[in-house]
Amino acid sequence: MRQSHLFTKTRKEAPADEVAKNAQLLIRAGYVHKVMAGVYAYTPLGLRVLENIKQIVREEMNAVGGQELIMTSLQPKDVWEETGRWSDETVDVWFKTKLQDDTELGLAWSHEEAIVSMMAQYVHSYKDLPISVYQFQTKLRNELRAKSGIMRGREFVMKDMYSLHATKEDMDEYYDKVVEAYKRIYERLGVGADTFVTFASGGAFTKFSHEFQTLCDAGEDVLYIDKDKTVAVNEEVLDDAIAEIGISKDELSPTKTAEVGNIFKFGTEKGEQMNVTFKDADGMDKPIYLASYGVGITRVMGVLVEKFGDDKGLVWPEAVAAYKVHLVGLNLEDAEIKDWADGVYTNLTKAGVEVLYDDRIEARAGEKFSDSDLLGVPYRVVVSKKGKENGQFEVVTRATGEVRQLTEEELFTDFS
Ligand code: ATP
Ligand code: MG
Repeated sequence: MRQSHLFTKTRKEAPADEVAKNAQLLIRAGYVHKVMAGVYAYTPLGLRVLENIKQIVREEMNAVGGQELIMTSLQPKDVWEETGRWSDETVDVWFKTKLQDDTELGLAWSHEEAIVSMMAQYVHSYKDLPISVYQFQTKLRNELRAKSGIMRGREFVMKDMYSLHATKEDMDEYYDKVVEAYKRIYERLGVGADTFVTFASGGAFTKFSHEFQTLCDAGEDVLYIDKDKTVAVNEEVLDDAIAEIGISKDELSPTKTAEVGNIFKFGTEKGEQMNVTFKDADGMDKPIYLASYGVGITRVMGVLVEKFGDDKGLVWPEAVAAYKVHLVGLNLEDAEIKDWADGVYTNLTKAGVEVLYDDRIEARAGEKFSDSDLLGVPYRVVVSKKGKENGQFEVVTRATGEVRQLTEEELFTDFS
């Protein structure tokens, strides 16, 4: 991608009302556009990061047999009434709307009821189970506060997976498999060592749900972690959970974290409430077992910015970066240098390297370097008059600041 073609431009200042570091950096670098509090658009750069995060999650969900689909944002009221979750007292984040004939509709904040209702049409016998489906979807939630940038949106992207089973054993076994898949996801996203599977409140079927919490100063949660980092409990359920585990509170210390994933076992609750049953091998009609598994895709993006961003700007882990190489062209007013730099860009791209090419002629070197730091692409490769004469490319690793001088041959073998 030629930087001169990007419609977004870097900016020195974030909007005055934007307090979160993640949104400030993402807006300044041109990865997101703030529409209003808690509502952000993703520009071409931001979308590439989101898609990379989604692809990692997608691969891991496919690996545990998840089938991707997409449900709807418009939700009928009756389905949610069956489980008592239409009421604003039970669910305080509903956005609701009406058809022209006054029929009430909900704008999806979650999809358990929608999935179970749909599956009533497809699940008849125990032979139809298990089923595991997932989607990436924009959830709409009327959050009271939206001060954490993209980490708490009123409109945000979630991956939600739902598994349906004939037996508790089957659900439990699958749930454990998904826990392992989630660990791989956070590992691949570069936050594996800082992410804990925790006991949390909110399980309908079991006493606890499990949250995936990542150490993050900008997070809204507090986790109690032991010194070996083997026990992690959300402060919400601390007393209950430590009683259950049999550990003393003194052994745990509080740390700020962000919830990047949340998984639940609903058991037969939804199947019973919504009367979604299957004929078992013994000929009896039984309610389906359900578990649900969420990952906050856009929140994860915010957490990566909070954790890795520095005083110069964004620092993307390679696995999710919008581009791998930022090719920064200097002295491009010299037509000969420009032709050569264009050639390096074309050849790297042809070799399959994802390159953002700062081909701007008018921008000065200092401006290009500070923009490059702000954009946070993992490797900066400088193409300049001096480099051409010496047959060398300066390569700077954004995360560490390490500087290397590579020949053209080394450059291509290193990056492609
Ligand atoms: P929270 O406790 O942070 O309000 P939640 O428990 O309501 O989240 P779930 O319904 O379990 O969230 O959603 C699954 C995941 O979606 C969460 O673990 C989180 O990563 C993400 N998420 C939830 N709400 C938001 C939001 N408003 N903005 C961005 N991501 C969100
Ligand atoms: Mg949660």
